[in-house]
Amino acid sequence: RQEQFRALRDVEPVTKDGHRIKLQMNAGLLVDLPQLSDSGADGIGLFRTELQFMISSTMPKGEEQESFYRSVLKQAAGRPVTFRTLDIGGDKVVSYFRSQEEENPALGWRAIRLSLDRPGLLRTQLRALLKAASGAELKMMLPMVTEVAEIRAVRELMQKEVQHLSKFGHQLPKKLQFGAMLEVPSLMWQLDELMEEVDFVSVGSNDLFQFSMAVDRGNARVADRFDVLGRPFLRILRDIVRASERNNTPVTLCGEMASKPLSAMALLGIGFRSISMSPTSIGPVKAMLLGLDVSQLSDVLTAALDDNTPGVSVREILVRFAAEN
Ligand code: PEP
Ligand code: MG
Repeated sequence: RQEQFRALRDVEPVTKDGHRIKLQMNAGLLVDLPQLSDSGADGIGLFRTELQFMISSTMPKGEEQESFYRSVLKQAAGRPVTFRTLDIGGDKVVSYFRSQEEENPALGWRAIRLSLDRPGLLRTQLRALLKAASGAELKMMLPMVTEVAEIRAVRELMQKEVQHLSKFGHQLPKKLQFGAMLEVPSLMWQLDELMEEVDFVSVGSNDLFQFSMAVDRGNARVADRFDVLGRPFLRILRDIVRASERNNTPVTLCGEMASKPLSAMALLGIGFRSISMSPTSIGPVKAMLLGLDVSQLSDVLTAALDDNTPGVSVREILVRFAAEN
């Protein structure tokens, strides 16, 4: 099987009915980078910058962050990399950055909340990213956004860093793409404002599922209780795609769902045309989509999501579709 997937590396990911799907990979360390050309991914759709912090015993200094990002971009050799700003907290523990004990760390002081409360830390990271991408394109996105105002606050800090760097004669990135992750359900009722505010949106389906279904992603006892392919969650995802089409804002999805051929298939059926996954999934997902008629699946899924017939799960419908096609 591995050999078979390897042979697909240079095959363009186009569905049977002609849709070009962007397949990107998730990464977080330099050791991940060779997988970019090995897998044939279109780029890195999620670069988890907290990994550098998690494997270090002390806080990485600005220069260390900058040289790390520079190496990542160099090794990516022109393929786009989407850097996510620090996503510390919750299930991502950084020993030297211990806050007080929290009763609900997943709902606590984490990610962009922590970054906005420690603007020095965030500005250091923004500066490192801007410098590392000087003369090139910088794509970055913010984790765990709850309100659109948080994005504006980061943009202001970013503007300050840009001004500071140009004042001191640094070359800036030639293009800046600024995005947000959609992982907190409150954004579902700010979709149009969100899409207007950013250049792109990336759905973090791991956290969006955790928060919308009230299911701890790390708790095996409840983790499998509800299905990502169930009607409620797929309807949420469909609303996101509709908002992205309405606003002409590119949307992608970078959670675990994208890594499994069956759920990746469902995402394409709902309307996603860009997904980011673990590098080893690129082959299997590409193999799936080469034989897929998306418009046919879309009809089947639309009917399945609008229909509430008890007893038939959407997963069963998808499994049947996959077997017959
Ligand atoms: C997610 O939540 O789906 C996501 C991609 O981010 P992480 O898994 O790093 O929280
Ligand atoms: Mg997340």
